[in-house]
Amino acid sequence: MPKVVLTSDQATFTDFNGLDALGFGLCLPYRLVPAFVQYKFLSPPIPLVNGRAPLAPYPLCKVEAALLAAGFKREDVYVVPPNYLRQVVDKDTAIVGIHVLDPMGLAPVSWTLRVLSGSGDTCTHYEFEGLMETVKELKRRYGFKVVVGGPGVWQLKGLEGRYDIDVLFEGEAELTFPKLVKDILDGKEVPKYIFGESVPPSLIPPIVTPSRNGVVQVTRGCPRRCRFCSPTVFNFRSIPLNTIMREVKVNLRSGIKAVGFTTEDILLYGANGLRPNLDAIKKLYDQTISLMRRYRVEGPLGFSHVTLSTALVVKEAVKYISEVNGLSEDRPLFPQVGLESGSPRIVAKYFSGKPYPWKPSEWRDVVISGSKLINDNYWYPCYTYIIGFPDATPNDYVLTTELIDGLREEGFKGWTFPLLLIPIGGTLIERSGYKEFLTFKRLPQEAIDAIVAGWRLSIEFSYKEYPKLLSGIRNPLTRKVVSALAKRAIEAMKEWIEGIKRDPEIIEKVFSKVNIRTAYSLIKTLLTVEAYKVVQALPA
Ligand code: SF4
Repeated sequence: MPKVVLTSDQATFTDFNGLDALGFGLCLPYRLVPAFVQYKFLSPPIPLVNGRAPLAPYPLCKVEAALLAAGFKREDVYVVPPNYLRQVVDKDTAIVGIHVLDPMGLAPVSWTLRVLSGSGDTCTHYEFEGLMETVKELKRRYGFKVVVGGPGVWQLKGLEGRYDIDVLFEGEAELTFPKLVKDILDGKEVPKYIFGESVPPSLIPPIVTPSRNGVVQVTRGCPRRCRFCSPTVFNFRSIPLNTIMREVKVNLRSGIKAVGFTTEDILLYGANGLRPNLDAIKKLYDQTISLMRRYRVEGPLGFSHVTLSTALVVKEAVKYISEVNGLSEDRPLFPQVGLESGSPRIVAKYFSGKPYPWKPSEWRDVVISGSKLINDNYWYPCYTYIIGFPDATPNDYVLTTELIDGLREEGFKGWTFPLLLIPIGGTLIERSGYKEFLTFKRLPQEAIDAIVAGWRLSIEFSYKEYPKLLSGIRNPLTRKVVSALAKRAIEAMKEWIEGIKRDPEIIEKVFSKVNIRTAYSLIKTLLTVEAYKVVQALPA
């Protein structure tokens, strides 16, 4: 059996029913997610085929590829879904490598949803706990080493003992992880914490196991250096086209009917620093779409992130991507974009590189005209903005609300989601001493108004767009059920946000008591909430 087993918890080791966006549902406290909804619709399990996962989260595919490129044999390295560890791990296993994204529920989306809903462990944390129980039990029996890596490692520093972790691994895997594995196999002592060195693009090997939902990385890192962003993204590189095409082919050949580019900014593909390269973008799209056609995959060919300032610099690329994809009102793209704040003071202090080549004082105009440009090309973005910059004043929040109102007046099509600032380990903001996890009580009324303004706009847009968004779900029956659940969830969110606007204490008094995880807890919740309404209705 394999010497190295690679896995992750059930919150990431899934294909999200074909729609990555469903993964955000797992950032909710698990008391708010009925178990059958989670395992049937949000994160259905991946099966085991011939002892391995037939597809896996992209980072695990990359780690496996790095080991194979470093000379490990295929039979020595298995990527395994968490539910099957007991079948695969045995006395031959020397290392279990675990990828983590949000193991303690402290990532920005998770923390924000916990605060807005009145606390509770997230599904992501629940799944991590479950996985580590299994790993600890197997480790007691077989004595392998546990190496944990990925963007969520910062959440586990100081908790190595609790989870019986031997090595925490941050940074890039390709060069450093194979050396670590060799040292462990040779019986050498290894450090408890390792930072993987940055890899030249030519040394990044293509994946061998197909990646869920056809995800392929096209750039790594970002040159804009925002102070709240993960430090591991700073060293910007574009992945060679040849490597990208090989990965797309691995996925399409396996029967996956989608390609999704993962990147911090699609319009920086092939760029020299912050100078975009239109030819490189065109080649990337032309070659990928022609490969998709060969495999009868209709697309559209989506991507994860873009920056509005780059879009305005290279407008032709925005138009080109829309044309070759055949985008329309009924066939849009939904990229994620950082809006962050409407205050020029905050822009200058915390993300002055994001508006470049424009100045921080011009950020508002960049957002308004960039939004118009991408909307005209059928990109309906999910904007996120940050509440809780360390020295944010009420006026900074008013400026953010005004920016959201400005977008609304321009007929903006997209979402605007507030996120509480998180001191992600190693970010410039965290290293400068900021360690606070904000709660609702610490926010001024102007911050609450900014939160409500963004949610209102998002809810209105969700009503219109959710059928298009959910059209990515493969199975028609699942699509129907998820659509019905989504409609109900949007209605619940509307009540939730309007409740917070009327009385922020509703979070503590009502939302914190909701538990719909099981049928029993659902009935109990209904009785509690009804009792609250009766008490509220009684004369004083
Ligand atoms: S532009 Fe985005 S990815 Fe780049 S540093 Fe800023 S927040 Fe991070």
